[in-house]
Amino acid sequence: MTNQNQHMDIKSMTLEELQAYFVELGEKAFRAKQVYQWMHEKLASDYDEMSNLSKDLREKLQAKENLTKLNIVQVQESAIDGTRKYLFELPDGNVVESVWMKYHHGNSVCISSQVGCRMGCRFCASTLDGLERNLLPSEMLEQIYSIIRHTKERVSNIVVMGTGEPMDNYDHLVRFVRMISDDKGQNISQRNITVSTCGIVPNMKRLAEEKLQITLALSLHATTDEKRKQLMPIANKYSLKEVLEACSYYFEKTGRRITFEYSLVAGVNDTKEDAKELISLVKGMNCHINLIPVNPIKEREYKQSNKEQIQDFRVAIEKSGISATVRREMGRDIDGACGQLRRRHIKSKI
Ligand code: SAH
Repeated sequence: MTNQNQHMDIKSMTLEELQAYFVELGEKAFRAKQVYQWMHEKLASDYDEMSNLSKDLREKLQAKENLTKLNIVQVQESAIDGTRKYLFELPDGNVVESVWMKYHHGNSVCISSQVGCRMGCRFCASTLDGLERNLLPSEMLEQIYSIIRHTKERVSNIVVMGTGEPMDNYDHLVRFVRMISDDKGQNISQRNITVSTCGIVPNMKRLAEEKLQITLALSLHATTDEKRKQLMPIANKYSLKEVLEACSYYFEKTGRRITFEYSLVAGVNDTKEDAKELISLVKGMNCHINLIPVNPIKEREYKQSNKEQIQDFRVAIEKSGISATVRREMGRDIDGACGQLRRRHIKSKI
């Protein structure tokens, strides 16, 4: 955890904070702007690259502030669709994974927001060992920056759907969104950023007030409280009614259509009856439904519904006038569910 008495690492500072910090150091504010641009626009990974700064200043900064950097531990590339999974090492030795996907509308990166997760969703590999710590804004940014450096390609879409619960790391997440969409940084449109939550109601409402234009995705996965509780412990804390109200509130405040994620699990939530209940649950809301064929993990019994059943489910929803897509399984050949690459890496070291 970050020490409360210490300021954020230099790469997590907003331009205004960096300017104030430079003044504190006895440096000119415009130097801060140069450093900010080197870090966030030109993606310098070392002070040495910041060629318009004096050697003295570079050395002074080097001595005072580590420039947060991730090491690439492993890259797996899919022979089917070019999807790449990256395993990164953080400065403290922890590892996180990110995914780079090529779509015709541009490149998309899926990032992690925490090391591990404490939400305990039954079908998810990322939560099996609990939460280690929150990621800093710089560590979320660097997942994207490292991928841009490595692929030498632009990124136009970001999904915060990797390991971790972004609404459990709220302040860092919001700061990350502001910085990645900053026109003095990568300038990625907020409309192309999706943040997925298991449904932490108070923070969903706070997010609605932030005046951001990002898409909020809610992991719904079930149509009754009882069933949702079996899959997601967070459902014991917030009822479906409260979660859906928070979604409506988000739409009211931002005008952004909500995405509902619904992982289809064979024999658990994938029947015609389930589809009907799902339709009546979200009817009237401005939403999109993203159906995710469950990615089986070996620690659990859950199985994927068959292809036909998945298509029937989608068609039933579309017929009711609600838009629905089945998430394409990108990089099927490189690794299983989110969090498995990291887990395998950790286990192999024990
Ligand atoms: N903590 C956030 C982000 C998690 S991952 C959240 O809960 O939304 C993004 C999505 O993948 C979530 O909808 C999550 O429930 C889902 N998911 C996790 N593991 C899965 C698996 N094995 N199969 C299918 N979907 C999974």
